[in-house]
Amino acid sequence: AMKPLQATPKAKSKNSKLDAMSEYAKRHGNKELLNLVVIGHVDAGKSTLMGHLLYQLGNVNKKTMHKYEQESKKIGKSSFAFAWVLDETEEERERGVTMDVAQTRFETEKKVITLLDAPGHKDFIPNMITGASQADVAILVINATRGEFETGFDAGGQTREHALLARSLGVGQIIVAVNKMDTVEWSQERYQTITKKIGQFLTKQAGFKDSDISFIPCSGLIGENLTKPSSEPKLIEWYTTKTTLIEQIENLRPPVRPIDKPFRLNVSDVYKGLGTGFNVAGRVGSGYVQPGDKILIMPLGISANIRNVYIDDASVNVAFAGDHVNLTLSGVDMSNVNIGSCLCDPSSPAKSATRIRAKIVVFNIDVPITKGFPVVFHYQAINEPAVIKRLLSQLHRSSGEVIKKKPRCLVKNSSAVVEIELERPMCMELYSEFKDLGRFMLRSGGHTIAAGLVEEMVQIKTPLN
Ligand code: GDP
Repeated sequence: AMKPLQATPKAKSKNSKLDAMSEYAKRHGNKELLNLVVIGHVDAGKSTLMGHLLYQLGNVNKKTMHKYEQESKKIGKSSFAFAWVLDETEEERERGVTMDVAQTRFETEKKVITLLDAPGHKDFIPNMITGASQADVAILVINATRGEFETGFDAGGQTREHALLARSLGVGQIIVAVNKMDTVEWSQERYQTITKKIGQFLTKQAGFKDSDISFIPCSGLIGENLTKPSSEPKLIEWYTTKTTLIEQIENLRPPVRPIDKPFRLNVSDVYKGLGTGFNVAGRVGSGYVQPGDKILIMPLGISANIRNVYIDDASVNVAFAGDHVNLTLSGVDMSNVNIGSCLCDPSSPAKSATRIRAKIVVFNIDVPITKGFPVVFHYQAINEPAVIKRLLSQLHRSSGEVIKKKPRCLVKNSSAVVEIELERPMCMELYSEFKDLGRFMLRSGGHTIAAGLVEEMVQIKTPLN
C-alpha cells in the first residue's frame, strides 16, 4: 500500500535555468565530463591497459598496487595485477574475467572521466550494452599479437560486434588502442595492417566519421605510450607524432548535455541505505536534480521527495545530465521503485507505453525476423520480453528511403520500421526529443540482433492512481 506523502521540510524551489547553467559551468573547476567505455575482444588487454593507465596517472597508490602484485604472484598470474585495479570482486579475480561494468572515475588536466569497463566475454554482452548506452566515447582495444587480432576481428570475435553496438548506442568518437605491440616487436607493418582494416570497418560499416577515429600503438602490460611519450627505440623510429593515449583522451570532445530538458533518471539499482529512506542509483538522463525536489516515479505515477544527492559518495546540491548519482528518496515505499523505474520532473513526466514504433537496424542474424518474433528488449538498465508485432516498411540502409512496404521478413543487415509490443508498460523517450534516451537494443537467443530508435509511443499508458 502506498504511504501518504510526507511534507518535505522547506522544499526548495528549483534554481532557475540560468543558475543551473552557471552552476554546471563551475562544477569540476570547468573540467569537461566524459563517460568512456572500453570495448574489444576478450583478452585484448582492456583491464590491464586501463589499470596501468590509472596507475600512471596516480589513481592507484603504491601500497594497493604492491598488494595486487603479491596476490597475483601467489596464484601464478602476476600479469593480472594491473587488471585487478579495475576488477573488484573475489569471484572475478579467481576467474580472471571482468564481469560487471565496473565504474571508476579519474581526472586528467582537462577532464573528469567516468570509466565504464565493459567486459569482453560473450555471455556478458548485456553488461556491455549497459556500459555502452551510458558512454559518450569509446576505447576499442585490439590485440596486435599475430593470429589474435585475426581471431578477434574475424569469425566469432567480438571486435566488430562491440564497435557496431557502441556506434548504434550513440558513441560518436573512438580511440583504437593497438595493444600488445610488445609481442610483435613494435612492427610498423603490423600496426599499419591492423589500423587499415579497423579503419575501413569503422568508417564503412559502423558509421564512424574519419575525423572521429584515432589510433595509437601501445602496450598496457609494459605501460608504453600511455601517459608519456615512448622511449622504446623500435617504436620511436617510425612513430614520429609521439602522441600518447592520454593526449588522445584529452582531445576527445565532450557531448552537449541536455541539462535544460526536464529531469529524467532511469533507475539502475535500488538499495536500502543507512538511516531513513532508501537509495536509488542511475545516470541522470536529462535535466538536473537537487535535494528537496519533488519527483514522479513512472510508470506508476507515484510522487516522492529527493532527500539527498550523492556523486561518488559525496553529498552535492545539484547533479546534472551525464552524472552518475545515488539519490536518497523519501515519502514513498521502497517497493514502488524498481530497476527500470523512471524518476521524472512532475511537470513533464516521461510517457510509458506497451507498444512503440521504431526504426531498427538489423545485425548479422541467421534467422530472419518475421511478424510475431519474440525478442528481449534492452533499454537503459532494463531488459524485458517483447514481440515484433508489425513490420511496417523496409528502409534503404544508408539513405533511409522506404524500399518496401509491409515486408514479410527482415534479413541480416537490413533496416526497417517496426512495431514492438512490450509485456509491461515502459518509460521511454522519442529519439527526436532525447537522443540518449530514445535508443534500445533487441536480443534473441543470446545474440544482439538489432539496435533501434524510438519514433513513436503507440499505446500510451496513463498511471492508474
Ligand atoms: P581483457 O579481457 O581484455 O580485460 O584482458 P586482460 O587485461 O585481462 O589481459 C588478458 C591477458 O593479456 C593477460 O594475461 C594480460 O597480462 C595480457 N596482456 C594485456 N596487455 C598486454 C600487453 O600489452 N602485452 C602483453 N604481452 N600482454 C598483455
